Amino acid sequence: MKFGGTSVADAQCIRQVVDILEKHYKAGDELAVVVSAQRGVTDQIIEIIGKLPTAKDDSAIAPLIQALGKRHITTLEGAAPDFVAETGAVIEERLISLQNILFAVYNLRELTPRSKDYIISFGERLLAPILSAAIRQRGIPSTVLDGCDAGILTTPQHGESTALPESDERIKKRLEPLLGNEIPVIMGFMGCTRNGIITTLGRSGSDYSASIIGAGIDADEIWIWTDVDGIMTCDPRVINDARVMSSLSYIEVMELSYFGAKVMHPRSIEPAMRKNILVRVKNTFNPSHPGTVIVRNGQRDNRVVKALTYIDKVAAININGAQMIGRPGVAKAIFSILADHEVNVMMISQGSSEANISLIVDEVHLNAAVHALTDLVKQGIVREVTHNHDVCAVAVVGAGMAGAPGTGGRIFTSLGKAGVNVMMISQGSSEANISFVVNQQDGPRAVRVLHDEFRLSEECDE
Ligand code: ADP
Ligand code: ASP
Ligand code: MG
Repeated sequence: MKFGGTSVADAQCIRQVVDILEKHYKAGDELAVVVSAQRGVTDQIIEIIGKLPTAKDDSAIAPLIQALGKRHITTLEGAAPDFVAETGAVIEERLISLQNILFAVYNLRELTPRSKDYIISFGERLLAPILSAAIRQRGIPSTVLDGCDAGILTTPQHGESTALPESDERIKKRLEPLLGNEIPVIMGFMGCTRNGIITTLGRSGSDYSASIIGAGIDADEIWIWTDVDGIMTCDPRVINDARVMSSLSYIEVMELSYFGAKVMHPRSIEPAMRKNILVRVKNTFNPSHPGTVIVRNGQRDNRVVKALTYIDKVAAININGAQMIGRPGVAKAIFSILADHEVNVMMISQGSSEANISLIVDEVHLNAAVHALTDLVKQGIVREVTHNHDVCAVAVVGAGMAGAPGTGGRIFTSLGKAGVNVMMISQGSSEANISFVVNQQDGPRAVRVLHDEFRLSEECDE
């Protein structure tokens, strides 16, 4: 079971988490728990460390440490009153260590990807001991493990590392002796390299940790506890009548999370899928709701389109040049230079004239991408590179689209009727996803039109 940041945001929430754990433990379930940082803590740390290397002074450090101390100790007092001395000392020690590291970053005026990973793992390092103490407060034994202790070995790609296959065996060895005898609490979001260097798994990485751990122990089920009743037909902040879906396939959830559905980390399905483990998404604050079940083949239903995602933090890049026509290796040059600059390409489209390739990238990568591609202009491989920041990407997801003719027609006809201009279209070969790009200002309307067109708020066909 994995609990997200909102589920552990304060003492009251943590008591609710322990209610859930206690119920399952007493019913004889063997449980391992993965936990995130408290809501907002990772963001808070990232914001400060980003500025430290160029800050005029170190005055931002003390307020951060004080705020983290106050919040975590208050949470501890409310969630595990008998363990305030013991666990409080652990928290204080970690805060001192964090403070020292932050001073070092300021003094060295340097933040390497490796040190950044260690620093941003502190949200989890501070919170996990509190949840474990809250479990012991109920008389259930519990120990804390960081991601590395729990056996998660990763690639050295700091900030976005991926679990290595040998993690499975290590996780099993570390956790199996504990299962059933206690509830181990594992810090999400982190692992380590074969050399023991701490890595993080990407933002929202605790979902991925849960799936890696679940696969490692061959869990019967992986439960992701969050603050909504399950995976919805669209981000509820964009579509207010978005509906919770009872069942989805692995592929559908992967397509949704790749395209920005903030409900789950994009790589978190892969380990579960590899071991064919059922994943449930449930609401910590409404545990009797059945939530969403994710399995290999989602519930068979008549729905072709199941859900939509909308991302506005993207940018479009157009690469033009008649010299690209019929010339092998242009795409290779483009994608290798982007990869060298660590730019992740989210969408690609190339017309059959071959004189134009369009890409969609995360807006944080735009400058790096344009800079890299300008090199190809200088080398004469392409003629010009333009970009547009004012766009958003929408993905239409449903495994039933594969082999069902007419869905594309319906999507673009309804957008056309609503006067939404589509700038770029792409369909993956899994056929479980059709994505397109529109002007930023048209994004929410495009999503609304399609949510209505495919009657996604209605229970009807499920
Ligand atoms: P946690 O802290 O539990 O990991 P997150 O904030 O990362 O929770 O993810 C849950 C949030 O994802 C929800 O509160 C919701 O606002 C947002 N969200 C975005 N898209 C969807 C979707 N399709 N279905 C459900 N929630 C979504
Ligand atoms: N705390 C990490 C983050 O904010 C991981 C997570 O919440 O899953 O990204
Ligand atoms: Mg999350």
